[in-house]
Amino acid sequence: MRERLCPVCQIELKPQIHYGVTIDVCPACAGIWFDADELTRLNEVDESILPRLDTLYQPQVVAYDPPWERLCPVCRYPLRPYRYLYTSDIELDTCDPCGGVWVDNAELEKMARVLHDARAMDIPPEAKAGMAIAQIEAEAAETRARAEFWRGLFNFMRARPRFPL
Ligand SMILES: [Zn+2]
Ligand SMILES: [Zn+2]
Repeated sequence: MRERLCPVCQIELKPQIHYGVTIDVCPACAGIWFDADELTRLNEVDESILPRLDTLYQPQVVAYDPPWERLCPVCRYPLRPYRYLYTSDIELDTCDPCGGVWVDNAELEKMARVLHDARAMDIPPEAKAGMAIAQIEAEAAETRARAEFWRGLFNFMRARPRFPL
């Protein structure tokens, strides 16, 4: 197996296993290479993994001469920069042939935040609580209305003169 090189520092990446998923971490810049579905798999197992990986792997203080182009550690194909979740300001690098993703150090934490915000945008918990209260109130109003109806009917029946036989 050909060694996997950091697209930034061009030194060998170190395999690290988390939840049975082997990711490749650069011992110098602490960037992480995720094969095609590894990022998704890890996030599915544990949503708090991204920021924790960021803290776990810290970059060494080294002056880099960044390459003019980042190459995929697996295919050596030039990586293509793209925006995480399309609209965030986090720029990641992906390899089109193999679908892997390169994440620079400190970007994982930002990704986790963006992901969390995106999920929260769906329906915030306060709105859910508000909806639940509205539901309970609606049900209570219905129960009251029903009680009123039966009471009214009862009174009506009672007040009603008997049918002449
Ligand atoms: Zn590196
Ligand atoms: Zn590749």
